[in-house]
Amino acid sequence: MAVALVKRQDDQTLAALRKAIEACGGFEGLKPGTKIILKPNMVMRGFAPDQLPNGMVTLAETMESMIILLREHGYNDITIADGSVIHPELKLNTNTAYRWAGYNELSQRLNVPLIDLNEGPFETVYMEGFPIKIAKLITEAEFLINMPVLKTHNQTKVSLGLKNLKGVIAYESKKDCHRHDLMRSIALLGRAVKVDLTVLDGTYGLQKGPTSADHHRMDIFVAGKDILEVDIVGSWLLGYNPAEIEHLRIYAELAERSLSLEKIEIIGEEINNLAKPLDWNATWTKDLITLYKIKGISIEPPDPTCCSGCSFGIVATLFKFFQQNVGKDFGNMALVMGKQKVTDPSVRKVIALGKCACETNGSHPNIVKVPGCPAGVKHMTECLKVVADEII
Ligand code: SF4
Repeated sequence: MAVALVKRQDDQTLAALRKAIEACGGFEGLKPGTKIILKPNMVMRGFAPDQLPNGMVTLAETMESMIILLREHGYNDITIADGSVIHPELKLNTNTAYRWAGYNELSQRLNVPLIDLNEGPFETVYMEGFPIKIAKLITEAEFLINMPVLKTHNQTKVSLGLKNLKGVIAYESKKDCHRHDLMRSIALLGRAVKVDLTVLDGTYGLQKGPTSADHHRMDIFVAGKDILEVDIVGSWLLGYNPAEIEHLRIYAELAERSLSLEKIEIIGEEINNLAKPLDWNATWTKDLITLYKIKGISIEPPDPTCCSGCSFGIVATLFKFFQQNVGKDFGNMALVMGKQKVTDPSVRKVIALGKCACETNGSHPNIVKVPGCPAGVKHMTECLKVVADEII
């Protein structure tokens, strides 16, 4: 199989996408009447009121061009489907993400249904004996077009075709992936879901993703019928050798495939001419501490054991809490989430945010538990206030 690597010229998304699809034979196997599912990367709406969707979600313009191309070929049974981060307190769900990214307007104008995969129904699939619920719309799709973004990710280093498939599973299964083994789960999911075509929207590349505003204009489309090949090319475009991306390494091992670029036929541009190394390593916790001149609190960014519910709740909580406590010294306090563990018994307060952190740090003598799965923003805020009043 071949991977098309196309540079968008003069903002002409449709022309670039057409070139990419033709070069890789992307629509081969399609027949009029085939039920087509388009799976964007609709991770969530932007946090900041003025945040742009660039690099964070598959752009509406890219999605529109794909629909136009399919219809040009007479393929009219098209549905857009994804399942975003769910966080009721923060009003994060698939519908707020679709609206923010311009998909509602697109759906009405082009008369294409928008589906929230979080609502099911689901089919239980066993991955190495571990049950995972995959949306039936996906397991029963006749032709699945996976449309990720060219982005880095603070837990998986890159988020491309394979990582984008996490949006097709139930919310509880997403949590299970983090509790179990995130990288292996992504690789196994890639083996469980049949993808017919992957089209990577690299209009922008995202640094310190998956939801930052640090987007970089790249004007690239990568398309191919083989998800691994597209991800290998995408990794190099972001400056990463795929061998250092754990979920890609595991997938290749399970599929008995190579990660070597030399084995891929690339049609179009040279990777070296388009690549832009982007940093994956999130530093927002340290940045916030520096910004608000906070002392005596340690907090690491969420590791792969922490899922989006806890991660985003903590971002929202800390922003407010630090704004209200500028320049304060908390002595020696640690905030933990997921399975992050504090082993030093001299830490004065270990604030365990969420059920996983409470269980992992249960034996610490100075633990303060904020249970919940995920931990609620209101609950975290109240707890931090009580502890702060005690310490300061
Ligand atoms: S407590 Fe948080 S990190 Fe643990 S499973 Fe629940 S949402 Fe995920």
